[in-house]
Amino acid sequence: MKKQLFALFGNPVSHSKSPLMHNLSFKGLDYDACYTRYLLEDGSKLKETFFALKLKGVNVTVPHKEHAFNACDVLDPFAQKIGVVNTIVEREGKLYGYNTDAPGFLKAIAEFKEVKTVLFLGAGGTAQSTSSILRDEGYEVTLLNRSAGRLEKYKKERFETFTFDTFVPKHYDLVINMTSAGLEDESLPAPKEILDAVVPTAKACVDVIYGKETPFLKLAKSYDKPTKDGSDMLLYQGIIAFEYFTNHAYTFDEIKPVMKKAFIL
Ligand code: NDP
Repeated sequence: MKKQLFALFGNPVSHSKSPLMHNLSFKGLDYDACYTRYLLEDGSKLKETFFALKLKGVNVTVPHKEHAFNACDVLDPFAQKIGVVNTIVEREGKLYGYNTDAPGFLKAIAEFKEVKTVLFLGAGGTAQSTSSILRDEGYEVTLLNRSAGRLEKYKKERFETFTFDTFVPKHYDLVINMTSAGLEDESLPAPKEILDAVVPTAKACVDVIYGKETPFLKLAKSYDKPTKDGSDMLLYQGIIAFEYFTNHAYTFDEIKPVMKKAFIL
């Protein structure tokens, strides 16, 4: 078999850990492939760029996950349902699309037992796929967002939604920061009085941001809550993508230790 080439498509792509994660895994599992990054400026050129570069598969990141959905010939049922694709594999000239962010997230929070009610802080793209899979799995998801506009589509899907002005605090088992607040600044994802009302009674707090302790996680720790950042979500979406890339030649547990090395380098 010819060496296979994979890539990350996005804008920007320079910060991403995906090339390291996948290249370490190809090397560690002795799979003849390599993974690069490609700055894709025009998302409508995704399909032609994929074939021009003779790729076998790609991960797609911001802002092209909806273009990725449109570029695929065959969609996995979950990707079809949410309209968002972050992993594409070419098979016999056709593009197959998957979403691995949401199952990766689901696996990352599985360690928190006896969780039923979940409060999402934020209602952006990441919240879209993860709220859907959590609901499919029987969790009750409520969304609290800074602005009303993004909540409209969740309302239509009958999620309970609030803005900061309309929120009435109650108990949630899990409180999750799904915003980018704290990523490049020191801001909290919601007003402190709201967080002081929901964090103390939560069983645990999770942040999708990785690589730093966000103000939200610091606040959760000040209340002695179990916390978790976004590293496992990133790792698990990568493992699930790798399973698709290699046509399930390896199990999740075989891939995990080699891909995890990307987080300790
Ligand atoms: P989007 O741009 O789609 O949405 C951003 C959300 O954050 C919106 O709800 C926005 O609210 C809210 N927001 C932004 N800044 C603030 C603020 N200062 N205060 C309150 N709310 C704020 O982003 P994504 O959904 O794509 O990404 C969200 C986060 O998830 C990012 O930090 C990203 O790094 C992380 N992520 C982590 C992954 C992982 O593997 N661990 C994978 C993918 C994403 P509004 O509507 O009011 O603007």
